[in-house]
Amino acid sequence: MELPGAGSSTGSGAGRAGSPLRVLVDMDGVLADFEAAVLRGFCSRFPGEPRVELAARSGFSVREQYGCLREDLGDKVASVYESPGFFLGLDPIPGALEAMQEMIHMQDTEVFICTSPLRKYEHCIVEKYKWVEKHLGPEFVERIILTRDKTVVSADLLFDDKDTIRGAEQNPSWEHILFTCCHNRHLQLQAPRRRLLSWADDWRGILESKRRQ
Ligand SMILES: [Mg+2]
Repeated sequence: MELPGAGSSTGSGAGRAGSPLRVLVDMDGVLADFEAAVLRGFCSRFPGEPRVELAARSGFSVREQYGCLREDLGDKVASVYESPGFFLGLDPIPGALEAMQEMIHMQDTEVFICTSPLRKYEHCIVEKYKWVEKHLGPEFVERIILTRDKTVVSADLLFDDKDTIRGAEQNPSWEHILFTCCHNRHLQLQAPRRRLLSWADDWRGILESKRRQ
């Protein structure tokens, strides 16, 4: 027997037939332009130092890539994104805010922002909340999921620029759609993995294809 209105809280998330399509959207590199701001911040703070242009970025970790250039540069670039004001000051990725506003109003669709805070979380966490409120509004603040492990969150789709997402769950419920970013554009994905090239690309088609599965 089910009490009126109690049904939605008891779903396991597995076998989501009949449920709304649940979409997770990553923040850095998908909604907020982390990479451009890191480069800009690095150039202004360390103007004489060698840097990695966005076209030369490869591999998810900017810290590792700067560390390969010269050992101390890894810590220097980290000091940029660990600074107060960094996350709040990120520019939105083109088209991201419009796509999110459209998605949240789509029928039979649930959208959440799913983001992993830095281990040095002091400024990052509160600024991520403030960024979402500033650019997307309070209804999206209600939809923030902060986690270091996205594999344990259940959903149909995850749009994320990180090429390999691992965690405690070996078989995450979501399909990972790789959102193209400077550090992953060179990767050849193995079928059936899919990309979203930008928010001008056909994200609606990806949602509809998932609905039909
Ligand atoms: Mg990201």
